[in-house]
Amino acid sequence: MFFMDIRKVIITRQGRKFYAKNLDEDLHTQYGFVKKEDLKKAKEGDVLKSNTGNEFFIFDPYFIDLYRKIKRDAQIMPLKDIGLIIAETGINKESRVLDAGSGSGAVACFLASVAKEVITYEIREDFIEIVKANVEFLKLKNIKIKNKNIYKEIDDIDIDAIVLDLPEPWNALESCAKALKPGGFLVSYSPSVPQVADFVNAARKNESFVYLKTAEIVEREWEVEERRVRPKSKGLGHSGFLSFARKVKE
Ligand code: SAH
Repeated sequence: MFFMDIRKVIITRQGRKFYAKNLDEDLHTQYGFVKKEDLKKAKEGDVLKSNTGNEFFIFDPYFIDLYRKIKRDAQIMPLKDIGLIIAETGINKESRVLDAGSGSGAVACFLASVAKEVITYEIREDFIEIVKANVEFLKLKNIKIKNKNIYKEIDDIDIDAIVLDLPEPWNALESCAKALKPGGFLVSYSPSVPQVADFVNAARKNESFVYLKTAEIVEREWEVEERRVRPKSKGLGHSGFLSFARKVKE
């Protein structure tokens, strides 16, 4: 196991979040420390005071609190991009979803928290170990991990949505066409423009798919300090482009 259990989430009035793993130790923060006796006794919704008088609010971790602590090795997809995938495909508790490559399993785990079932394909065994640890840490029961090359074949069928996050997504079009249900969504995530062009051109040529759109999500965070309200000065980063297509026939 890579992780200790996260038992409690603690938030300060300033919005800083801490995770209490071991309730047998005092929790030290820059806002002072909370005694282990207080941590142990604390119930959800309790308010504790640190030795310096700061308030600490305590609750049990939600999925998203734990998700933010998963182990990351491969570059994981940011939440803003996962959000668009869920919104555009309408993945929900009835959906069977497939993703490749698993990488650290971030996309697979997030989608498993909203879908009925997620099957995740990964060629590298070392990454599969990380995915397994993350699945266990998040206590997800609806993920199947397969050590397979998605460019070669997908041995699953009746899939509602496939998310590709790998270097040559156009090589997976044939296998995705077989695995998806008619009407099922194919989503490809690529960091660079030539990959988008090659994927979209290949999807357009492939009779199994109807191409829908390519989009980039730009999330700009703002600072709100009294009436000093403005975009954060830190530069906007780039993650990737999302291309969407629908399977229409085999
Ligand atoms: N979406 C993942 C990150 C994926 S990184 C996350 O959010 O955590 C890309 C992964 O694709 C790498 O782990 C790589 O090993 C895997 N990969 C590359 N080619 C593949 C293929 N043909 N079949 C399956 N996995 C592949």
